Amino acid sequence: MSNKEDQGKKGWKDIPIGGKITEAGSACKYKTGGWKTFKPEIDRDECINCLFCWLYCPDMAIELKDNEISRVNLEYCKGCGICEEVCPKKCVRMVKEER
Ligand code: SF4
Ligand code: SF4
Repeated sequence: MSNKEDQGKKGWKDIPIGGKITEAGSACKYKTGGWKTFKPEIDRDECINCLFCWLYCPDMAIELKDNEISRVNLEYCKGCGICEEVCPKKCVRMVKEER
């Protein structure tokens, strides 16, 4: 029996490889919404529905309904501000999230 087994610890061969994604759809299980300090607000009157924000959002937090922006899913939005940056109409504004 090795020293590690004596201590009830796993050896390096028993530990899963870090950062390895072993199944499809695993991002759905990891809600990144708790990271944010700011959240996006979309001015629907100015929005031209170009879908840039939807395309560039790294967390797919911007949801569509009938091919139009429907809502920002705040459970997954991490507040990175990319949607604000790419919006050609400047109608996405990052606002401080109240907790
Ligand atoms: S702030 Fe970032 S994560 Fe949130 S909706 Fe915009 S692009 Fe997506
Ligand atoms: S990037 Fe701006 S204009 Fe385009 S769909 Fe998003 S909010 Fe609307």
